Amino acid sequence: MTTLVLAEHDGQTLQAATRNAISAAARLGAVDVLVAGDNVRGVAQAAANIAHVRTVLLAQAPHYAHQLAEEIAPLLVSLAEPYDHLAAAAGSFGKNIMPRAAALLNCPQISDLTEIIAADTFVRPIYAGNVLATVRNPGGKLVLTFRASAFDAAADTGGSADIREVPATAAQNLSRFVRRDLTESERPELTQAKVVVSGGRGLGSAEQFDALMTPLADTLGAAIGASRAAVDAGYAPNDYQVGQTGKIVAPELYIAVGVSGAIQHLAGMQGSKTVVAINKDPDAPIFAVADYGLVGDLFELVPQLTDALKQV
Ligand code: FAD
Repeated sequence: MTTLVLAEHDGQTLQAATRNAISAAARLGAVDVLVAGDNVRGVAQAAANIAHVRTVLLAQAPHYAHQLAEEIAPLLVSLAEPYDHLAAAAGSFGKNIMPRAAALLNCPQISDLTEIIAADTFVRPIYAGNVLATVRNPGGKLVLTFRASAFDAAADTGGSADIREVPATAAQNLSRFVRRDLTESERPELTQAKVVVSGGRGLGSAEQFDALMTPLADTLGAAIGASRAAVDAGYAPNDYQVGQTGKIVAPELYIAVGVSGAIQHLAGMQGSKTVVAINKDPDAPIFAVADYGLVGDLFELVPQLTDALKQV
């Protein structure tokens, strides 16, 4: 079995989720990595250093600079022939490009895999994580996306893969890069953070969300998440949302504050190693998945917790 993993990067740095996809693909057999961009040899070198990587395919052209799906999908197709599987991490980058490649190749895609049972058999969550479907597709090439939080990241050292330049495909010019608006933050990236503190509707306002969650996050060096109700109410930005229609996180520690624990929220955080819940309702469903629960008023408990953590 050989798998070609599409690397996700910003032109300079390889995104950590690519290493999770590589370790998942390594369970199937040999792994090659495709780095596409403009002037991205440094990224290709970083990919070549990753454990398990056999060869890095480097495709460079101006029309790959912004990694538009309309340009990268035909490149994947041009390289697909010798591979059993094409794969990427199941983030917005992979979700954007891989289905296009699958459609162009006329082969099936299996998305958001959390477990590999065999080279043609995989587990993926459905119904907001309430059902785990085992999907088998015997025979033929597959396009796969791996849920990064379900697989350990391959080490970023220890590999010594060859880097091979591959020809660029012709520019499609079907779409045009306009601009990228990124949230600047000193905090760890939500999906990669070891500690996540998440606020819900119980915080009551954007001001209170900020006043309570920011000091708690600062004290723990944590990323901040939010429930969809908190996002919809304008307490927190959209990219904080954790859950079925938000981000999937699996930190060492997840602290849910004023979050009821709706199944759509649990779908995004139930892979967390340790869950702490703070809620005034002892029957809130979040307590069913919590390892530690504090029943009480978050406006009293969160400042107390933050102060206590500062003493540690
Ligand atoms: P609530 O359910 O209103 O809970 C607020 C909690 O705060 C309550 O448990 C209350 O007891 C507690 N509280 C209130 N005041 C205090 C206080 N002073 N002290 C302590 N506790 C207090 N939701 C997501 O989060 N992520 C998703 O990705 C997502 N996707 C969805 C997709 C679909 C298709 C649908 C239909 C829904 C989705 N939802 C999602 C919404 C989800 O169903 C819930 O509505 C949402 O998670 C509720 O957010 P919440 O827990 O903050 O609010």
